Amino acid sequence: MKIEFFKHNIGKEEISEVNKVLKTIFLTNHKKVDEFENRFADYLGVNYAVGLNSCSSSLFLSLKLLGVSNGDEVITTPLTFVATVNAIMNLGAKPVFVDVDLETGLIKEDYIEKHISSKTKAIVPVHLYGNMCDMKKISCIASKYGLKIIEDAAHCIEGSRDNIRPGQLSNAACFSFYATKNITSGEGGAVATNDTDLANQLKIMRNQGMDKDASRRYTDEFRHWDVNVLGFKYNMSDIQASLLIPQLSKIENFWKIREEICNIYEYEFTKSGINFIKIPKNAKPARHLFVILVKNRDKILNYLKENGIGVAVNYRIVSDLTYYKKLGYNSKDYANAKYIGDSCISLPLYPKLKRKELNFVINKVKEGLKLYD
Ligand SMILES: *Cc1c(COP(=O)(O)O)cnc(C)c1O
Repeated sequence: MKIEFFKHNIGKEEISEVNKVLKTIFLTNHKKVDEFENRFADYLGVNYAVGLNSCSSSLFLSLKLLGVSNGDEVITTPLTFVATVNAIMNLGAKPVFVDVDLETGLIKEDYIEKHISSKTKAIVPVHLYGNMCDMKKISCIASKYGLKIIEDAAHCIEGSRDNIRPGQLSNAACFSFYATKNITSGEGGAVATNDTDLANQLKIMRNQGMDKDASRRYTDEFRHWDVNVLGFKYNMSDIQASLLIPQLSKIENFWKIREEICNIYEYEFTKSGINFIKIPKNAKPARHLFVILVKNRDKILNYLKENGIGVAVNYRIVSDLTYYKKLGYNSKDYANAKYIGDSCISLPLYPKLKRKELNFVINKVKEGLKLYD
């Protein structure tokens, strides 16, 4: 048996929507992006969504526009995709890592305060695996010290905690529509925010700082555009938006299927005493990744691969990557994150995963653990 790690949900409807865009004269007139933005903001329960070309640029631009610059410090965790940290570094700011909770892998809110210095400008909580951080606690800390919050919600489109969703208790929440995310346009991203000013500035910055969208230059009555700020190229295209719109209307159905798969994983692994990442209380998990924690991780990874099962590691911690090690980060300072980073395996989780395949994965995990644990 060959079981893919991930399969997307692009079907007839998405293909037909893309076809429609391909038949228009102007492949990037932004009407589809506008439509996606309105629908996505509605879905999340925020005032604005701004479509960009990736979550990385969403993080970068949000941090920049919220005032993070050279020499500032930004608090986050080392248990994340390197994109979170690179966004901070590319602004000349310094990532300050806080350890995570051993059960959930989420930032330890109680450890944040002791990492705050006079240089701290912002906190970037990562809603890892689709589990939301405690935004109530984090927003209290942020307002006490006058810090901005930029959520890395790449895993957490469908998630909530205490009935709060990404973008509702922060300055900005950043999403990814990369190839393996819950909804995808291959590449793509968005910022959700209730801040009118930030939303407007993002729309200008994504388009070289021009004060009018490029396409509207041609459709409105002629007007010269001007540039008042230094922007660059970060916009989403109509082709991407047209792939995302139909997926957005099916997103809760996809979620339900992943929730059922996770419930089966959890039931079976609990029964066999296999450790996995837990869901925080009062939360709806987005169910982006299902992660088990095992002792001889690399042996079990290979065992699953040899048996045709697609697996991934999300993630070895950032302070274990050579570039960051050389900067002086020491993984010993984040013992829980290090433990998860060294023992995590992500298993197949997607609506197209069949019951037969799921059973096969569960059995092979159990076998692998008997052999190597
Ligand atoms: C995928 C991902 C990103 C980056 O998303 P891109 O759209 O590829 O830039 C950032 N953070 C996390 C946690 C991710 O999983």
